[in-house]
Amino acid sequence: MTAPDSVAGSDLVEVTPGVYAWVQEDGSWWVNNAGAIIGEDGVILIDTCATAKRTHAFLSAVERVANGATVCVAVNTHLHGDHTHGNALLPYSAIIVAHQSTRDGILTDTVLIDTPPIWDPMPYWGIDHHRAPTVIPHGDLTLYTGEHRVQVCHPGFPAHTTGDLVAWLPSEAVLFAGDLLFHGVTPLAFMGSVDGALRSLDWMAKFPAQHVIPGHGPIVTGEDFESVLAAHDRYYRFIKDTAQRGRHDDQTPLEAARSCDLGEFAEWGDAERLVLNLHRAYCDAAGTEFDLLAAFTDTVAFNDGPLHCIA
Ligand SMILES: [Zn+2]
Repeated sequence: MTAPDSVAGSDLVEVTPGVYAWVQEDGSWWVNNAGAIIGEDGVILIDTCATAKRTHAFLSAVERVANGATVCVAVNTHLHGDHTHGNALLPYSAIIVAHQSTRDGILTDTVLIDTPPIWDPMPYWGIDHHRAPTVIPHGDLTLYTGEHRVQVCHPGFPAHTTGDLVAWLPSEAVLFAGDLLFHGVTPLAFMGSVDGALRSLDWMAKFPAQHVIPGHGPIVTGEDFESVLAAHDRYYRFIKDTAQRGRHDDQTPLEAARSCDLGEFAEWGDAERLVLNLHRAYCDAAGTEFDLLAAFTDTVAFNDGPLHCIA
C-alpha cells in the first residue's frame, strides 16, 4: 500500500544495513536525492528536499524505518534549495552542519520568497523561510550513530558550489556525493568552477566506494563509479573547449551553446544547463563576475521557454 504522504517516483532505498538513500525520479530541476543513516544514537540526515511535500515524504519514510530514533544531525551538502529548503521542517533540536559558504548562501538566498519565473510549472515550496546550518566544520568532521561512522569532507576548492561536502561511510563503502556527482542528468558548475568540478572528480575517485548516491539520478554501484566519473570528465572538458572556441570566435555563451553539438551529452536530462556552465567557464577564463540573471535568461532563451520542472 502506498503511504498517504508518499511522492510518486520517490523511494527510500536501504543501501547497506541502516544506511538509506532517498532517491527521487527523475532527478531534474529541484528533484534531488538525500540520505539517512540510522543508529542507536539517532538519525543522521544527508540533505533535505526542495518542497514541503517532498521533505515530509522523505521524513515520514525515514520515520517508518527508524525504530523510534529521531533526527539529531542533518548535513547539507551545499546551499541549493533542492537540498536545503526542507531544513525548516526538521525537528528544532536537530543540528544542521554545512560549509561556511553554504550557511552564508542560504542566509542571503531569496528564491523561496521571490522565485524567478524560470521554471514551468513554478515549484510550490510550501515553505516560507530558511533554516540555516549552525555548525560549520573547518576540516573533516566525523559523526557517529551506533555502529556507523560518517566522515564529512570538503574537496578544498570550489566545484559544484564553493561549499560542497560529501558524506563518506568507510565501513560500508557508501559515498553521499551531493551535487559533485549527477547520474543521467546534466551536471552543473555555474555556482562553483568548471576547473574545480573537473578536479573534484579525481578527489572523489579516491573514495573506494561500492555505493555512490549522486545528488540527482539513480544510485551508482561500485563498478559503474569510474565510468560515471569519466563521463563527467568528458562533459566538463567539452564545456571548457566550447567556451574556449566561443571566446576565440567572439561568440556569447548563448551563441556558443547554439552552435555546438552536445553529442553524447544530449541524452542527459536538462541539457540546457550547457548555457549556465558556459557562462561559468567564460567568467572563469576572463576573470569576470558571474551574472546569474543573464545566465538564466540565456538558458531560458536556449530552451525556447521556461525549464521543465516537476518539483
Ligand atoms: Zn541538487
